[in-house]
Amino acid sequence: MSDIPPLPFLPFALPEIGEDEINEVVDTLRSGWITTGPKAKRFEQAFAEFLGEPQLECVAVNSATAGLHLALEALGIGPGDEVITTTHTFTATAEVVRYLGADVVLVDIDPNTLNIDPKLVEAAITPRTRAIIPVHYAGLAVDMLEILDIARRHGLRVVEDAAHALPTTLERELIGTMGSDATVFSFYANKTMTTGEGGMLVTRNPELAKRARVMRLHGMNRDAFDRFTAKVPSWYYEIVAPGFKYNMTDIAAAMGIHQLKRLPGFQLRREQIAQTYNQAFADLPLILPPQALAGDVHSWHLYVLRLSDRLEIERDQFIERMYALGIGCSVHYIPLHLHPYWRERYDLRREQFPHSQKAFERMFSIPLYTSMTDAEVQRVVDAVRSIALAA
Ligand SMILES: *Cc1c(COP(=O)(O)O)cnc(C)c1O
Repeated sequence: MSDIPPLPFLPFALPEIGEDEINEVVDTLRSGWITTGPKAKRFEQAFAEFLGEPQLECVAVNSATAGLHLALEALGIGPGDEVITTTHTFTATAEVVRYLGADVVLVDIDPNTLNIDPKLVEAAITPRTRAIIPVHYAGLAVDMLEILDIARRHGLRVVEDAAHALPTTLERELIGTMGSDATVFSFYANKTMTTGEGGMLVTRNPELAKRARVMRLHGMNRDAFDRFTAKVPSWYYEIVAPGFKYNMTDIAAAMGIHQLKRLPGFQLRREQIAQTYNQAFADLPLILPPQALAGDVHSWHLYVLRLSDRLEIERDQFIERMYALGIGCSVHYIPLHLHPYWRERYDLRREQFPHSQKAFERMFSIPLYTSMTDAEVQRVVDAVRSIALAA
């Protein structure tokens, strides 16, 4: 019997919150203005500057799901319309289409990038198709040039689900500036930066931004802070549509302002951990995550490994052994075509999505986050190596 205590459990993901975020939140709490106000505005401006275009319209919301819903609503998506997206995503990407009474058309992924396959997007277009929602899976950019070309040729709208893609580049351009109708980022607790819950809708279309700003707050033509800070403070507003309650609070924005400043440093640490993993696993019977093109940035929101066909061990067993060694893992994602709602609604069969199905059955995500110590990274390396070599 050893008297060395077992190592503490290493969770799959943790946020990294610093003193600056804490102090800014406290400042907000003491300021008397805790809902959407000056800090949400500052965060929107800082976000546009981060993307390198101070005139870019950034609309802060309380989740990426809300941002996706607002973008599609502003584009006029509704009953009778079809929107094409990947089956290999989180349900939020697709559920927003159903909020608007439109239909979701799911397509398979490219087995190398795990991103939506543009050829399948084009093949799925019908006279009812109105929009495409590409998802930059794990933080690797979708081939947006191809998607935007398809959209142009068929007169379709494009809303990017960039929940994983901050900061991600394609041909050295940041996702968010590629020229789609709108791009939506997530600041959920486990994303590459966080506000607890939150999201940002980014667009170059001022009409779209204006509609989203109205619809994020009940369909009101002036928000409370506008009225409060007007030359003559006014109680008056008008309701111009049945809107939603999707505004970001200043408490959340206070965190966002400082998380955004730290984002380049966060990305470097994620890159470093990803490269450590790539080197440590290169000789194992595992399929490593696809890399960004030379010169481009992968956000490394997720580090997804796949068991090669040479390994007999099942994916579930691999994850159980990781847990037994005190390391949390996850699976991204259970494809939408396997969930009862989507399967039954659209009569989907797994044979329609062979690449997503195969990837799902063999994939697992290992911990990769900025607050991991080098020793924790090494623990993950040792665990994966010992399980893969014994399998
Ligand atoms: C996290 C996530 C969302 C939703 O983000 P929220 O901010 O939690 O609404 C949407 N799409 C994908 C791919 C995600 O991973």
